Amino acid sequence: MTNAPSVWPGLLCTDARATIHFLVEAFGFVETIVVPGEQDGEIMHAEGGIVMIGSDDRRGEFADHNRPGTNSLYVVTEHPDQLVISLTGLRRGPHKEVAMSARDGVGVAAHLKRRFGRRRLFTQTANVGVAGLGAAVFSAPPAGADPTGVSPRGARGGDTVRPFPGARVGPNDPRYATLSMGFNQRWVGTPSYIELVANTGQVVRAVQDAVQRQRRITVRGGGHCYEDFVSANDGGVIIDMSQMTAVYLADDGTFCAEGGATNWDAYEQLYKGYGVTLPGGSCYSVGLGGHVCGGGYGLLSRKFGLIVDYLAAVEVVVVDRDRTVRAVTAVPGDPHTADLFWAHTGGGGGNFGVITRYYFRDLPQPPQQAFLATTTWNWQEMTPERFRALLTNYGQFMLANSAPGSPYSDLFALLKLTHRSAGQISMTTQFTGAHQRLLDDFLGQVAAGVGSSVSDVRRMPWLQATQTLNGSGPNQRGKYKSAYMVQPFPLHQIDSIYRALIDTNYANPQALLQVDSYGCQINTRSPHETAVAQRSSIMKLQYQTYWTDPAKDDDDLRWIRRFYADVYSPTGGVPQPNGVTDGCYVNYPDVDLQNWPELYYKDNYARLQRVKARWDPNDIFHHRQSIRAS
Ligand SMILES: Cc1cc2nc3c(=O)[nH]c(=O)nc-3n(C[C@H](O)[C@H](O)[C@H](O)COP(=O)(O)OP(=O)(O)OC[C@H]3O[C@@H](n4cnc5c(N)ncnc54)[C@H](O)[C@@H]3O)c2cc1C
Repeated sequence: MTNAPSVWPGLLCTDARATIHFLVEAFGFVETIVVPGEQDGEIMHAEGGIVMIGSDDRRGEFADHNRPGTNSLYVVTEHPDQLVISLTGLRRGPHKEVAMSARDGVGVAAHLKRRFGRRRLFTQTANVGVAGLGAAVFSAPPAGADPTGVSPRGARGGDTVRPFPGARVGPNDPRYATLSMGFNQRWVGTPSYIELVANTGQVVRAVQDAVQRQRRITVRGGGHCYEDFVSANDGGVIIDMSQMTAVYLADDGTFCAEGGATNWDAYEQLYKGYGVTLPGGSCYSVGLGGHVCGGGYGLLSRKFGLIVDYLAAVEVVVVDRDRTVRAVTAVPGDPHTADLFWAHTGGGGGNFGVITRYYFRDLPQPPQQAFLATTTWNWQEMTPERFRALLTNYGQFMLANSAPGSPYSDLFALLKLTHRSAGQISMTTQFTGAHQRLLDDFLGQVAAGVGSSVSDVRRMPWLQATQTLNGSGPNQRGKYKSAYMVQPFPLHQIDSIYRALIDTNYANPQALLQVDSYGCQINTRSPHETAVAQRSSIMKLQYQTYWTDPAKDDDDLRWIRRFYADVYSPTGGVPQPNGVTDGCYVNYPDVDLQNWPELYYKDNYARLQRVKARWDPNDIFHHRQSIRAS
């Protein structure tokens, strides 16, 4: 693997993989190792890390690997019989050198452990008084995992799994078109390049490089943004996190998910590996990168709350006022970083830096089984009165049964009020309680006076139900709007909804208003505890329309804009926080909104602005609705 001298048999130089393995064992996380060698400057890849061959006097050339926060570890030999390990840059710690004699041989790892101890080392380096660093105990990926976070999935026995070294995709690369687009086909950009990154160190370097080149940076997690906040970065740099998908149990008992993992990465790894889950969104392919920091809710949220209610820490790559780039782990209760942590509990993505890791604690166990009920009503038999009954029944049920601890916290319903051209209105209900009677009661109450309906109820293991419900849908063009509701629908709103859905000038079977149940456990938190200000709603609304032909953009946008303006005409065309409605969901962004700070954040906005001023003083991370420092 290397031509470096054989000073450290079985440990250093002769076997880079073993070296990294031992050092990972000792330190928990090693990303870059520099060892001396004849081929100065050669970069090698080995399982568990990137090995750079270089001597001590070349250290300056690797300066960016040695930046605080990049977890770099330099290994240099100064004498044939002595190993000097330089800890500069390791977890922002002070420069340290450890000298050992060659006779220690393979006992180096044990020696390091004795001398520093994983936990002690990290705690010690965390406490050196570096502004902005939390007193967190940093944790390692699971034993046997590649500490760069690149999963060795699919490797044959004996294979050397080469960690992803990062890739810069420019306009001449065949991947450029794909990587310039969002999930929504309306979002096609012309960035100067896309930077694919595989670990925190690569993110730090990618951000540093873009800052030096004075290029605007946007960040893509799963690419599911409803607006063009990522792709609309012409001439800039998109940092694509999709190679950072590891999900694992960390040493301190928290669960870590990297900033490019998707919902499905988390659901599958957490459930199959540990029997726990995140109470997140129903769509497979949504990225945790944007999903978590916007709040994150799904079919288990009435039972367990929002994803952010389980957040324990977040690792973010930030850019200081002097344009130094560094990774910070923000934790609640820490005097330096608690504000940054709080801002990631609902402030939304693309605002403060690049999220490289989320840590969660006390994750809930999902139910073993779930009932899935599908109920449909034919539009042909729907009258204005029946439609009123349907929405009134649904809203009244949620008002009566959405208190914390309600037996109906096991129930989550998605009422899809589809345009008449689709032929049917449908409702999907997941019920994870033991007594099907509660589900039957709900279905009966909602359907009363609505005319004939067809219900199909199935029972299946919870993970399969989650897979079955996956609502990612195909890639097409789309537009969305949202509203929180703290009261059932007023009649004037029901009539506006009905008018929009039977609009004969617009025939799109993929146009709908989706009414999700909400509340219960979500409403046990105060509006200021996390950055999610809406903690008393009983329903969450999502206006949606999808199409494929760009020539139809105007028609579809006009319909959804009129629809929304009509429903909220008494309150200026938006769902003002007013005791009936309660603003909009930041994870369903809508650039048509003018007073978005109030609608997304209510009175949490001022605090978010202070966090922005402190952690992104140069406004490096911005988009059309990013938090303004003042
Ligand atoms: C089909 C579909 C279904 C959905 N279902 C649900 C649902 O059930 N529940 C729910 O709560 N939401 C749902 N959403 C909304 C979803 O939560 C948001 O769209 C979310 O922001 C998507 O995150 P992403 O990483 O995939 O998107 P991206 O487009 O990658 O990013 C969205 C925003 O977050 C930022 N961002 C992403 N990753 C990072 C990062 N690592 N560091 C810093 N900033 C980052 C981006 O810059 C951008 O501003 C759904 C969306 C879609 C398209």
